[in-house]
Amino acid sequence: MYKLVVETSTNLPNDVRRAIQAAKQKENAGTTAALSLATITKNISMADENVSPICQDTGMPTFKIKVPVGANQIEMKKAIYEAIEEATKNGKLRPNSVDSITGENSGNNLGPGTPIIYFEQWEKDEIEARLVLKGGGCENKNMQYSLPAELDGLGKAGRDLDGIRKCILHSVYQAQGQGCSAGFIGVGIGGDRISSASLAKEQLFRSSEDVNPDETLRKLEDYVMEHANNLGIGTMGFGGEATLLGCKIGKSNRLPASFFVSVAYNCWAFRRLGVTLDATTGEIKEWQYKDGEEIKFIEEEVAAATEEKPKTREVVLEAPITEEQIRELKVGDVVIINGDLHTGRDAIHHHLMDHDAPIDLNGQIIYHCGPVMLKDEAGEWHVKAAGPTTSIREEPYQGDVMKKFGIRAVIGKGGMGPKTLKALGEHGGVYLNAIGGAAQYYADCIKKVDGVDLLEFGVPEAMWHLKVEGFAAIVTMDSHGNSLHAEVDKTSFEKLSELKEKVF
Ligand code: SF4
Repeated sequence: MYKLVVETSTNLPNDVRRAIQAAKQKENAGTTAALSLATITKNISMADENVSPICQDTGMPTFKIKVPVGANQIEMKKAIYEAIEEATKNGKLRPNSVDSITGENSGNNLGPGTPIIYFEQWEKDEIEARLVLKGGGCENKNMQYSLPAELDGLGKAGRDLDGIRKCILHSVYQAQGQGCSAGFIGVGIGGDRISSASLAKEQLFRSSEDVNPDETLRKLEDYVMEHANNLGIGTMGFGGEATLLGCKIGKSNRLPASFFVSVAYNCWAFRRLGVTLDATTGEIKEWQYKDGEEIKFIEEEVAAATEEKPKTREVVLEAPITEEQIRELKVGDVVIINGDLHTGRDAIHHHLMDHDAPIDLNGQIIYHCGPVMLKDEAGEWHVKAAGPTTSIREEPYQGDVMKKFGIRAVIGKGGMGPKTLKALGEHGGVYLNAIGGAAQYYADCIKKVDGVDLLEFGVPEAMWHLKVEGFAAIVTMDSHGNSLHAEVDKTSFEKLSELKEKVF
């Protein structure tokens, strides 16, 4: 179980690698989307090399275990708990299990409801264990529709195949880049509310290259792949050719009175693997999702892909940053940061609203990031993974916090809303989009951990003070009222609206 957990967190399955490679080949060279994909593939090879988490959000571990009749599931649960605890201690998983009311982090990824384990019996003698690590950013973009429904841009979605089609397209549109697109979706049609959501997540265990044996669903999958990729949301929501990397649809029977369509959205960092085990010895007999070509995204290939730089300005920033420097930045500029960065996500933003900051934040940069950190025997902290987290969660606080403390820039992913955009204009601030999931790439830019405050909020939520070098991010919201996110939302909505007419 330990091997399964570590391998899943650090090594992407072969079908996912091939899907990312295909997207990369399709993307237009010299765009920010192409740059993002090059960063993503570089990150994948760094995670391979370092045996470190592909993304710092190692997600909700969800196991699906098939067992021979008579197998002891209590013992298996214990083995899973031990593996999870060990992998957390060794920095292969981020401590991600928090009390739902107090927010207290259990520190070892164990707690009521975590990890999720499903058992099922089968007639075979061996055990099959599959695991998916699905991060919070993409989990928050899951959708459930109850038909009939009225959908923005698409109008009425009825209780038929065409209504289902509209729900799926709408789910991709609403995710924009916030679930770290380009993504994979699993769709569950029918069931009740719970089983429908479960069926959607279950589809994520299918190979992204399989062919649906149900002809109707296969046609729907093909249709969604083609048209979702025409929405122009693109990698990280920067616009571009790759919006969806896979679509798998399953159906269950339903009550005549209910009609649910559930969509499980998974980011490009689609970490799911499986093993078959000898039921007597526990030895791994075979790995799943490792068949076919394993694309390594070797350095030469990455270098070649990044040779053609985006046709944008590159600006170097080092805190403390002045208002004048910020006012010069425009959407599309690539910013290279050297020097100080301070992490801050949900708990910190909430805290800063009515407390003083632990350090002087005037002219500083806040990084929306919950890193994976390890303390060595000498008590020194080391960064194991440090990509951006979804920024929109800080929308209620961000503008006020920036103004209150004089913060000039925030880095995150997925963009922020009108309240923050207005504050950036009033105060002289900028929003920088880092590449979601590129946790190894960004960890490599962090040269030193200068300290930590508010560690009582837990490792991911604490304020880490970091020294960085060559930390690249893209200006997607500037102090002149421009937002790439608002722009992509608008154009993708227009394209979505063109798909209103009945197809099935
Ligand atoms: S790649 Fe993005 S959505 Fe996926 S786990 Fe990482 S931060 Fe979350």
